[in-house]
Amino acid sequence: MTPPANAARNSNAARDIANVLHPYTDHRAHAVNGPLVIARGEGVRVWDDQGKEYIEAVAGLWCAALGFDSKRLADAAHKQMLKLPFYHAFGAKSHEPLIDLSEMLIERAPCPMSKVFYANSGSEANDTAIKMVWYYNNAIGRPEKKKVISRLKAYHGITIASGSLTGLPANHKMFDLPVSDRFIHVSTPHHYHGAKPGETEEDFATRLATELEETILREGPETVAAFFAEPVMGAGGVMLPPATYFEKIQAVLRKYDVLFVADEVICGFGRTGNYWGCQTYDITPDIITCAKALSASFLPISAIIINDKIFQGLADGSATIGTWGHGFTYSGHPVAAAVALETLKIYDELNIVEHVKTAGGYMQKLLRERFEGHPLVGEVRGIGMVGAIELVADKANHKNFEASAKVGPRLAKAGEAEGVILRGLANDTIAFSPPLIMTTDEIDQMVDRTARALDAVTVQLR
Ligand code: PLP
Repeated sequence: MTPPANAARNSNAARDIANVLHPYTDHRAHAVNGPLVIARGEGVRVWDDQGKEYIEAVAGLWCAALGFDSKRLADAAHKQMLKLPFYHAFGAKSHEPLIDLSEMLIERAPCPMSKVFYANSGSEANDTAIKMVWYYNNAIGRPEKKKVISRLKAYHGITIASGSLTGLPANHKMFDLPVSDRFIHVSTPHHYHGAKPGETEEDFATRLATELEETILREGPETVAAFFAEPVMGAGGVMLPPATYFEKIQAVLRKYDVLFVADEVICGFGRTGNYWGCQTYDITPDIITCAKALSASFLPISAIIINDKIFQGLADGSATIGTWGHGFTYSGHPVAAAVALETLKIYDELNIVEHVKTAGGYMQKLLRERFEGHPLVGEVRGIGMVGAIELVADKANHKNFEASAKVGPRLAKAGEAEGVILRGLANDTIAFSPPLIMTTDEIDQMVDRTARALDAVTVQLR
């Protein structure tokens, strides 16, 4: 491949183009444009290999909750590596970081929970949750109750099962997903695009709950096992549930004995202004999946937290077969668990939830003040420290630009020039999900830089 014009033959950019296959990248465009090589980080900022500084408006991938340096977390990993760099948890083996972390997660759960299982990523956590639901229903004598319902535009990961739950076209097209008719999608709970003219949030929520009930009845309640939902939908476009949505959805699920799996991979550990997104929206889940902020992303680790009802089913099943035949080599890896444990202690010491309430409230207000009146901005939305602006061609009719105009990607690119790393999602939505430690001064800078980038794109589009 020819390196981009500005890439010297042996530069990082040229070697990247020659050798790296990137996630979520147009490989042909990458061969022309090259990578942005990030060399180091500190606080809420990162620097590229040319020394240019950026504010990270999305904490990497919604995950670097404590920013891009922490001696304490580095020391926790180092100490654990010297003491016991690896041990597994198969066949009832255990170690202290695993026991301590599990105890802490059960203590912090938003409702009474029983056990914690570990994986390495959000996708694996959701895959595991699906397998748990299937195993559970087999164990309690309901082998036909296996279908799982999720929402269009949901993001639950990219493995074959979690990718089937995900409701975004790019994750399905050409991958032959969903993998089976056990995966069913219902409507996206996004009032801005989904509501009928004049429909209130409450009426919209009622209509969505009715759709869910009709879907369960159409499929047969005896075949529907679980409903998966992110409390705030993240990667699909930062969409908040309409008022009364989860209350009405949960009533339907209870009526037909359908389990609730809360995907807290983005929302967990403070993002929405409570420790869990479930607390923000009064959700009582049977299973919680979490990752990302669990270790502030210093090391990969995810967790699946289950209630006692699920545990009893899994325990009965394993007693019949002689094992719960599921586990990853690195389930509860001691170094990742030690780092996660230290991360949770840091959140407690920083009183991170209170900080998010204050700084997040400031961020929401500022985003609205700065962007709501902008001619290109259709909706500003968010809660706590997760937010978004959606760019539209026609503000009055909530009409997006043609995807081919690449307005969102243009803003992300203009953001780079201004020193802010932005993340463009579907429908030209730009997400803000900064490190949870971000201060109000840093929020000002992030928003100023974004505003300058938006002005540059507005000029380009004239
Ligand atoms: N669930 C949610 C809500 C996510 O946002 C993500 C990733 O962004 C995942 C699951 C998948 O996590 P991972 O990329 O670690 O597999």
